[in-house]
Amino acid sequence: MADIPTPFPQPDRDTAKFWEAQNEHRLVFQKCSQCGSIRYLVGPLCPECHSFEHEWAESSGRGTIYSFTTVRHQTHPAFVPPYTVLLVEMEEGPRLVAQLRAPEGTEVVIGAAVHVEWEDHEKQSLPVFELDE
Ligand SMILES: [Zn+2]
Repeated sequence: MADIPTPFPQPDRDTAKFWEAQNEHRLVFQKCSQCGSIRYLVGPLCPECHSFEHEWAESSGRGTIYSFTTVRHQTHPAFVPPYTVLLVEMEEGPRLVAQLRAPEGTEVVIGAAVHVEWEDHEKQSLPVFELDE
């Protein structure tokens, strides 16, 4: 079988800074310059006050597991199961989907504290989460 490339995000005008920061191992969220709300997913417009102005605020990288699933059925040739995908509620409020980095068989509990770590690939670093000690 031919090598199947791993799919990666395709940065655009709005999301480029978000992905560039991840290559520096920084998780950032858009923060509205008008009303101060944190917005995620990245977008051109604040959903609270409709302002186009924003800055990039660095996340603490800490959150809690809001939900999770363990993938046991292969849905893409580049992703070999089993692996656990988390929905993490970040301290800043947004909920982020990313993979859990932990030994196979690790017990995962909703509400458990996690922190971001980084998985480096040739062109794009991606966040993963590890359970706090
Ligand atoms: Zn706003």
